[in-house]
Amino acid sequence: MNTRRTKIVATLGPATDDVQVLDGLIVAGIDCARVNFSHGTAADQKRRVEQVRARAAALGRDVGVLADLQGPKIRVEKFRDGPVELVDGKSFVLDASLGPDDGTIDAVGITYKDLPSDVQPQDILLLNDGLIALTVDRVDGPRIHTVVLSGGELSNGKGINRQGGGLSAGALTEKDRADIKTAAMLGCDYVAVSFPRTAADIEEARTLLNEAGSKAGIVAKIERAVAVVNIEEITRAADVVMIARGDLGVEIGDAELPGVQKNIVHLARELNTACITATQMMESMVANPVPTRAEVLDVANAVMDGTDAVMLSAETASGRYPVKAVQAMARVCEGAERQRMTQRSSHRIDQAFVRTDEAVAMATMYTANHLGVRAILALTESGSTALWMSRIRSGIPIYALTRHEATRRRVTLYRGVYPVAFDVVDTHPARVTANAIDKLLEIGAVADGDRVIITKGELSGIAGGTNSLKIMRVGDHRLTET
Ligand code: PGA
Ligand code: MN
Repeated sequence: MNTRRTKIVATLGPATDDVQVLDGLIVAGIDCARVNFSHGTAADQKRRVEQVRARAAALGRDVGVLADLQGPKIRVEKFRDGPVELVDGKSFVLDASLGPDDGTIDAVGITYKDLPSDVQPQDILLLNDGLIALTVDRVDGPRIHTVVLSGGELSNGKGINRQGGGLSAGALTEKDRADIKTAAMLGCDYVAVSFPRTAADIEEARTLLNEAGSKAGIVAKIERAVAVVNIEEITRAADVVMIARGDLGVEIGDAELPGVQKNIVHLARELNTACITATQMMESMVANPVPTRAEVLDVANAVMDGTDAVMLSAETASGRYPVKAVQAMARVCEGAERQRMTQRSSHRIDQAFVRTDEAVAMATMYTANHLGVRAILALTESGSTALWMSRIRSGIPIYALTRHEATRRRVTLYRGVYPVAFDVVDTHPARVTANAIDKLLEIGAVADGDRVIITKGELSGIAGGTNSLKIMRVGDHRLTET
């Protein structure tokens, strides 16, 4: 039984379409598979979602699926004769009126036609994740005249960001609206909103998803400077926040990024939201079979900060070593989790709790960390008890026992929480407890003599009904008078 607490999100792509590679990823322990609507067609994503569902079922694992919307990513269009080399000091035009295939060494089209009205002279535009910088000289109708500040090779479809942020594009494009319907139809467990600015952007996505018949959790990708300003309302509105360090780093600058990452992880735990640390975590593994030491430290530091999940992008989607990247990430997470600082907590020690189920969850973690138990068994309908528990640092596994497949896939992102299929077939409280312990024995998570804590509701089958905490010794459950 795998008891790595930090969850791994792996992006599917051409490199994982081979079923052996995909199986390798699942066996290596991915918890959630990300399909990226920025690349490929809806048909590609549908095929990938169906394939990962089928392989996870065949291998007996609950793997969540996260559909990542493209959002208003601004890109240059295509070049007539392949990539161009931009030279420092030369002029270059971003031209909203140019045809999509007509780029040259002097000018290129842009996907976002309103960009010229969003920029001012002296603004700095960063292309290709900041590898190229342009200074805006003047705007002439649809044409942004720039001077190359820092040149390099520019090829088709590279992204454009404005340093400092402030572009007006809304979070959901027409394509995103169509992709939300696709994600709902595919039964995705999470949908990620790219470039949200406010809580309203998250709520709009949730409304569209609900209208399409989906109850998927919403991941807010923090990748604009304005989202950092509005981080609290966005975190409250979302189910998960993603520290999308690629675009975010370009907008706010690399010097600000570490502090922002740590603050967001902390806030997410505080507000009972899960969080994913993403982008370039093991970037060199796109080409190499081992990570750099700096990447090892980056992943480990995110774990020590308290992130729920770490993410792989190109490393698995299009890299040469997708399975090795997951194995390396898993190994580094486990190493960081052995550090004592990741297992102690004084979280919410001086806060009042509002709800009964929340209070039971908190009491469970306090008891577990101080008394010492082998496992926590949370009988849950919606997964929220497990979410509250997972906000507390601990080394003790939290098993979310539920008959709902959607809940099992939802908890795949919560740190230290492991989904277990469990149907309450009996109504007698003591027999429910005994059956739950038997289930954990069956999967090898506990052994006779282990002390465990069980939380459940007196009336099982009701979300929010958790009202009891029971400390039991495995083995004694067979002696309980029923
Ligand atoms: P992306 O988002 O991979 O969709 O660009 C992640 C990031 O910007 O870090
Ligand atoms: Mn991004």
